[in-house]
Amino acid sequence: MNKQRQWVNKAIALIQADYQRSADTHLIKLALPEFSGVDIYLKDESTHPTGSLKHRLARSLFLYALCNGKINQDTTVIEASSGSTAISEAYFARLLGLRFIAVMAKNTSHEKVYLINNYGGECHLVESTEMIYAESEKLAKELSGYYMDQFTYAERATDWRGNNNIADSIFKQMLLETHPVPKYVVVSAGTGGTSATIGRYIRYHQLNSELVVVDPENSVFFDYFQTGEQQLICQQGSKIEGIGRPRVEPSFIASLIDRMIKVVDTESVQTMLWLETVLGRKVGPSTGTNMVGVLKLAKEMQQKGERGSIVTLLCDGGDRYLDSYYNPEWVKMNITETQ
Ligand SMILES: *Cc1c(COP(=O)(O)O)cnc(C)c1O
Repeated sequence: MNKQRQWVNKAIALIQADYQRSADTHLIKLALPEFSGVDIYLKDESTHPTGSLKHRLARSLFLYALCNGKINQDTTVIEASSGSTAISEAYFARLLGLRFIAVMAKNTSHEKVYLINNYGGECHLVESTEMIYAESEKLAKELSGYYMDQFTYAERATDWRGNNNIADSIFKQMLLETHPVPKYVVVSAGTGGTSATIGRYIRYHQLNSELVVVDPENSVFFDYFQTGEQQLICQQGSKIEGIGRPRVEPSFIASLIDRMIKVVDTESVQTMLWLETVLGRKVGPSTGTNMVGVLKLAKEMQQKGERGSIVTLLCDGGDRYLDSYYNPEWVKMNITETQ
């Protein structure tokens, strides 16, 4: 076998060994007595080594690229990111001894830049979110590197039938609950990869769960879901880090979604702050957005006298956002009332 294949084998073995050392993430049952009859669960993705649900995606993307022959020991890996994916990819790049460059908008939080650098990754900041894609392609060409392109490959890099993906984990962890098959699974979309994985899994296993996707302001996903218009563009980037996109991302699969709910940014932030009082710890803003959707659905179920369960994701913890979403001054300047 040639040297390059030997290196690829070793790289895959390193990722598998890292996985073997990992524990699954908890499914937390929330104590919300006001919703008696509707059980609400949070899949806590903040406990991955790199702190967010993007740990799963980064592992999948590296394995996908390696198994497709796209990465060897000399490859510089480049990614367009709003931060969380780049943190997780920097972790895996370091594990494999590869150079990694994250292309991000300059308003990405300092904590995220710090974490990427801490894992040995480099940050290449551009003026605005719309520019990250073209800049990543350009850099990849200049450096003969590989553009990982999460916004294209997120939906296909993960094994959707099972194999310990996030859906497999959630539905297995629900098995002994009062309502083991959730009426709703609520997620937000950045790449759309998580929603695609869960949507396909629900169909493949013939489950009676509905996939509900929440969308923040300054994102085209909701309108695309309503109209099917592929060319939609948002001038301003989403204010809720990690979710909402200015263009219809290829990895966002609308046909898998049963319902979408538009969520006002101020409500996402308020609900994020409220969740701290329920959980006793801070979560990120996209978890606030998820929870707005959950509370709306729970109220609907109660009004109809339905019983059942709702599962959503705790996408990342609040530590990364102390200077921003947890700082009232910052919120006043950046998250403005629109209604
Ligand atoms: C990426 C991300 C999401 C959305 O997940 P996708 O699978 O990319 O759609 C939600 N919250 C945070 C914090 C994220 O980084």
